[in-house]
Amino acid sequence: MTTIPATRYETVIGLEVHVQLLTERKMFCDCSAAYADAPPNTHVCPVCMALPGVLPVMNRRAVEMVVMAGIALNCEIPSFSKFDRKNYPYPDLLKGYQISQYDLPLTKNGWIEVEVEGQPTRRVGITRCHLEEDTARLTHRADQSGDGYSLVDMNRSGVPLMEVVGEPDLRSPDEARAYLVKLQRIMRYIGVSKANMEEGNFRCDANVSLRPAGSTEFGSKVEVKNMNSFRAVHSALAFEVQRQSAELDARRRIPQETRGWVEGDGRTVSQRSKEQAHDYRYFPEPDLPPVTLDAARIDQIRAELPELPDVKLHRFERDYALSHYEANLLTETPARADYYEQAVAGAANKPHQERLRYAKQAANWMLGDFARLLHAGNIDIAETRITPANLYAMIALVEDGTISGRIAKSVFEEMFSSGKAPADVIRESGLEQISGSDEIGAIVDRVIAANPKPVEDYRAGKQEAIKYLVGQAMRETRGRANPASLTEILRTKLEANA
Ligand SMILES: [Zn+2]
Repeated sequence: MTTIPATRYETVIGLEVHVQLLTERKMFCDCSAAYADAPPNTHVCPVCMALPGVLPVMNRRAVEMVVMAGIALNCEIPSFSKFDRKNYPYPDLLKGYQISQYDLPLTKNGWIEVEVEGQPTRRVGITRCHLEEDTARLTHRADQSGDGYSLVDMNRSGVPLMEVVGEPDLRSPDEARAYLVKLQRIMRYIGVSKANMEEGNFRCDANVSLRPAGSTEFGSKVEVKNMNSFRAVHSALAFEVQRQSAELDARRRIPQETRGWVEGDGRTVSQRSKEQAHDYRYFPEPDLPPVTLDAARIDQIRAELPELPDVKLHRFERDYALSHYEANLLTETPARADYYEQAVAGAANKPHQERLRYAKQAANWMLGDFARLLHAGNIDIAETRITPANLYAMIALVEDGTISGRIAKSVFEEMFSSGKAPADVIRESGLEQISGSDEIGAIVDRVIAANPKPVEDYRAGKQEAIKYLVGQAMRETRGRANPASLTEILRTKLEANA
């Protein structure tokens, strides 16, 4: 397929994200929801296996988590909400219906801010967040004769699932990815989900259509499924934009359908036509009472929410004088942001300018050497052996001239692998910066004696020659001298004995 610029058309994308909630128990029974490493069909009971004669009991924690998410996504929280049955026959749905929410969801009419690099921040609408139950897992196999069969694992059946339905406000695959990243970050901040696409506890379906630029009517909508990473979502949407614009250019009608992303082929394929859409025959769930939330309880949940990512990001920019880029990376996870703040807290009583210098240094370390070592060792910051106090102590040793910035790098690597305090690393390896002018003076004398040619050049007026001599002297000190003071001593001696 040739690449056709999509500028004649406007892209319209809306995302539906299923977020598995981190409750201890399943949605309507007492089974443990932590089934990830369990053998198949071990987290089951008569309720989540849908045996006859059982009744569901609502997990209040799951309800609270959806309310938390709704507040974090700027939604309204109605005081009255209810569950409904969504009827459809499928082998992963043991009851033959799913307990979900239809017309009265727990939260509605929210928004989040989405930012694509180089473009202004845009507000994207959230239609609703509602609560439902996850389905069982099917694994499709083939026997020796090639006949297909499926295995059912009911461990996932009945795990609380929140669906976040977004408005069709996204205008590009880049925006769709930024929206997902932001949504994931918020879910992790408020601790309601692991929100990991690869693990399947954060699952995204996309609706995408094109319309002539300037039009206000929607084109026919294609639903895309089977995307298991942010990258897959971006690639699948980019593919659809190209495919649909080529169809429209050729004056072909775009059928309303569901398409699946085939990662290996890098394309979407038609799965089923939406024209025979399911009639889910929703009706109110008779086995569960409606959910009523009084204003005091909602206020309490609001008050207990942690600081949200955008608020933290702007506070970091403001209080620590960091760039947007730095603040964004440092607030990517609450653990990283907390670590940074604990490290910087050591400078809390210092004068303003000095405090900002520490804040900048701590940011440089965390986004530089520290990030590199964590990444290389595949280590989470929560598990690092360097304490925030020791990172602060090391920056303080650079600030007061005990070690040079270059030596600090090797001190830091040793701290990273051993967990030792910087002062101990320095004492044990003799890495203190040489500041006594006697010691540096002796080294400078040796370098002058050993290099008559550059010395002569310098004294003849070739200023450049001093660089070589500084390099030699720094090598003799094994980098432990301050280059500026060493240069000064060298210059003084060269000129005094000229
Ligand atoms: Zn159960």
